[in-house]
Amino acid sequence: MAARLIDGKALAQSIRDQIAKDVAELHARSGIRPGLAAILVGEDPASNLYVKHKEKACHEAGIYVDDHRLSSATTQAELLALIEKVNADPKVHGILVQLPLPKQIDSKVVLEAVLPHKDADGFHPYNVGRLVEGMALFTPCTPKGIIKMIESTGEAIEGKRAVVLGRSNIVGKPTALLLMHRNATVTVCHSKTKDLAARCREAEILVVAIGKPKFVTGDMVREGAVVVDVGVNRLEDGKLVGDVEFGPVSERAGWISPVPGGVGPMTIAMLLENTFESAKRSAGIA
Ligand code: NAP
Repeated sequence: MAARLIDGKALAQSIRDQIAKDVAELHARSGIRPGLAAILVGEDPASNLYVKHKEKACHEAGIYVDDHRLSSATTQAELLALIEKVNADPKVHGILVQLPLPKQIDSKVVLEAVLPHKDADGFHPYNVGRLVEGMALFTPCTPKGIIKMIESTGEAIEGKRAVVLGRSNIVGKPTALLLMHRNATVTVCHSKTKDLAARCREAEILVVAIGKPKFVTGDMVREGAVVVDVGVNRLEDGKLVGDVEFGPVSERAGWISPVPGGVGPMTIAMLLENTFESAKRSAGIA
């Protein structure tokens, strides 16, 4: 069976086009322009590129960007002072602190300093708690995008056997929760999981987020499965690959997302959506 492609790039573009229209309408109706404060600490090239893409997407959607580039020597106190400033800025409805932060800064302290109602990434413990309860104020961008990609296939989630490979706080755990809320039966696998290949083969929906190039091979995938590859790995030759061996897995899967052009663009689209929804909430519009 040759898998059909889950085209995250095209899906993200259609969402961004709709957000641009909605932003223009909100501005015309209420005078409010959604705003995102983007904070990047240090010169990590990958983080720099991610923030650049996020800011470009905001500009194209008519979202105001409050851009902050800080040196890698920034202290935790300096970063917290900046967060206090953007927390208080009425033009800012969402705050993005690009991770990872330099080692002198405790990212937990920083993420907790972001006001929960401006926490566009959904990483504040308040929002994590609401997510567990199924009442998320902000759903983390990558997991939210993954669910939209699965939904875009038209395959039901309810009642399906879903396996999430990876249990990070930003991808694996929230994705497992979102699948559970949609009535999938969810198994979460990690580096200590025994008989991982057998667990993966049980999956009708397989989400892979471990950061190991081409880790999931064709024989680990159930015939007809929906496979979402979250991994982003740069090979020595500069090529970008996912955690899934695309060719052999697409021979067996029913649906598969590519890298690049899969989850990455959806993560950006969801950041715009979260910022827009936050701006609407601040205007008292549901
Ligand atoms: P992370 O925090 O490093 O977590 C990796 C997870 O994978 C951990 O739970 C780890 O298990 C598990 N793992 C590692 N090696 C394994 C193995 N050999 N077998 C089974 N499980 C294994 O990573 P992350 O932040 O979730 O990111 C995962 C990948 O997604 C990375 O490639 C990252 O770049 C990518 N990503 C992409 C986007 C996007 O927008 N496209 C967004 C976020 C992340 P333990 O818990 O037992 O250590």
